[in-house]
Amino acid sequence: MESKKVSVVTGGAGFIGSHLCDALLGLGHKVIAVDNLVTGLEKNIEAAKTDPNFSFIKHDIIQSAPELTGNVDFVFNFASPASPEDFIKLAEEIALVNSVGTIHMLGLAKGKNARYLEASTSEVYGDPKEHPQKETYFGNVNPNGVRACYDESKRFAEAMTMVYVRKYNLDARIIRIFNTYGPRMRNDDGRVVSNFINQALEGKPLTVYGDGMQTRSFCFVSDLVAGILKVMFADNAKGEVFNLGNPDEYKVGDFANKIKTLTGSSSEITSGPLPEDDPTQRKPDISKIQTQLGWKPTVSVDEGLKKTIEYYKR
Ligand code: UDP
Repeated sequence: MESKKVSVVTGGAGFIGSHLCDALLGLGHKVIAVDNLVTGLEKNIEAAKTDPNFSFIKHDIIQSAPELTGNVDFVFNFASPASPEDFIKLAEEIALVNSVGTIHMLGLAKGKNARYLEASTSEVYGDPKEHPQKETYFGNVNPNGVRACYDESKRFAEAMTMVYVRKYNLDARIIRIFNTYGPRMRNDDGRVVSNFINQALEGKPLTVYGDGMQTRSFCFVSDLVAGILKVMFADNAKGEVFNLGNPDEYKVGDFANKIKTLTGSSSEITSGPLPEDDPTQRKPDISKIQTQLGWKPTVSVDEGLKKTIEYYKR
């Protein structure tokens, strides 16, 4: 009998990581989720825990790689707080998990001869001068601003991943995740989708930062997970970088109105200060993954938001 594939997911109790664990269990993998629960939540893996193929290790990968006996086929490195509010509160942890933590996980993949996927971010493009952003764009990042703990450590994570590809021939690939939303986003994570939905449902003002003309493009989490799996399971993606996101672009001010309409809320829309280094525009060019791997998002923003609103109502 063919033995089960073994996947390790760091950040496995987080928003994206926990959905990824569920999808891998659905494919019949044995899944080992690793998380220090600094922003991950045990309730995100409650359902997974009922599956005998799932195990959870509470561990901080900044300290070391988790000690694992037995073989590992796939390492998905998703451990990092990722909300701009975390960039203030958890700056040191973020800088370390994406640098030291990534080195530990690359070492684990190398030792186990496993395939590796690094979860990088559209933040590596900074405040982009190229629009939409292609994988070939080098970005426009403030190296010491408030977002640098995240942007620069993810850029380092990409660099180190490629060192392992070139020096050790590790079968690693990189994805750059654009704004993603859906059930299990923390209520209090401070990001625009969770803030606006919760504010609308509670009848509080929707807080648009700045003039609301800045843009973002929002991907529903199930689409994102499908893309992650495409990239990991592609046999010809070693050393490749893929944008993953939904190119459907909105001005933040218009997005506030959309959420007001979808929730049927009578909240007002107020404005607040624009955070430092807040990118003025962001939209993925996904032609590379679409052409090479046949992935594109299928869930419309209205459909995804309705599901997310239902989740927050519960
Ligand atoms: N934003 C906003 N109101 C909020 C939270 C965020 O207007 O309550 C804006 C924020 O300034 C940014 C965009 O929405 O321009 C997306 O912010 P988010 O924190 O979700 O993630 P980012 O894309 O900046 O990493």
